[in-house]
Amino acid sequence: TLSNERVAWFNGKFLPESQVLIPFRDRSWTGGDGCFDVTRTFNGRIFRLDEHITRLYRSLKYLRIDPGVSPAEMTRLSEEVFERNRHLLGPHEDYWVGQRISRGVDPCQDDHIDYHGPNVIVECRPIPYRQRARMFEDGIRIIVPSTRRTPPSSLTPRAKTHNYLNLIVASQEVSAIDPAAWAILLDINGNLCEGNGSNIFLVKDGQLFTPQERYVLPGISRGMVMDLAAKMGLGVREADLDLYDAYNAEEIFITSTSLCLCPAVSINGNKVGPEGQVWGPVATSLAKAYAEAVECDFVEQYLLHRENGGA
Ligand code: PMP
Repeated sequence: TLSNERVAWFNGKFLPESQVLIPFRDRSWTGGDGCFDVTRTFNGRIFRLDEHITRLYRSLKYLRIDPGVSPAEMTRLSEEVFERNRHLLGPHEDYWVGQRISRGVDPCQDDHIDYHGPNVIVECRPIPYRQRARMFEDGIRIIVPSTRRTPPSSLTPRAKTHNYLNLIVASQEVSAIDPAAWAILLDINGNLCEGNGSNIFLVKDGQLFTPQERYVLPGISRGMVMDLAAKMGLGVREADLDLYDAYNAEEIFITSTSLCLCPAVSINGNKVGPEGQVWGPVATSLAKAYAEAVECDFVEQYLLHRENGGA
């Protein structure tokens, strides 16, 4: 029977989301001791699921957590969660499809929580288009907060752990200055790093640059843009990039699984490219190639969800 409540997979069962309850002594609640990954759908297809699952198992390995589910099974469960919920999607909507794993509850003496082992969830939820349509229309304003990204020597940003507080504090700092701005952090060396949910690219002398993987999450959409750029014959390099590079970039854009590729119009109030330009030539051709590869005009899809219904 079809219900209007989404279902998620939780420790071996498909359940209505309202019945997926994590015990309060779960270590992910008490200490952020877990990791996750998330991809999205495009018109009924899941984007680079195998790559996302590979990244998830690398995060797990780094944290020394065994989820008790094989990568192949996690892939199959992710597909099934989407299949079981796709009838709930509205027109021109897509899902985030994600997996979350915590190390489990901390046992305590005489406790009545009988589950000890990792808590594993596979779930999906609609991408918030309406709130983000403006980013594609007007481009984003980037602000660099004073908070620096956690260095790899403390907790590697390459693992997608539940420790987002560093990115959240940075975003809060930026929101207090400009609620619509997008935070991009520097790493401890003062090089451009990443944002809460996005990687960054610069165009300089017609070439594409992005921060080195050692300091950032290896974004799957970042990889996609690097593949497309290489195919288009555009040079793409991972490099140490600082604010001087950003202020002199011809174009700047961010990538994320849900946003795909979204252009920036300013960084710290410094205009990017010519006055009035939202989409530069390189971002335009990469977005077009991206849309063709995923068979979804994602820019159009976001704009369709504008407050005024896309009029
Ligand atoms: N960096 C961080 C910290 C992120 O959370 C994300 C979103 N997953 C990204 C970068 C972009 O990665 P992806 O392209 O895989 O969504």
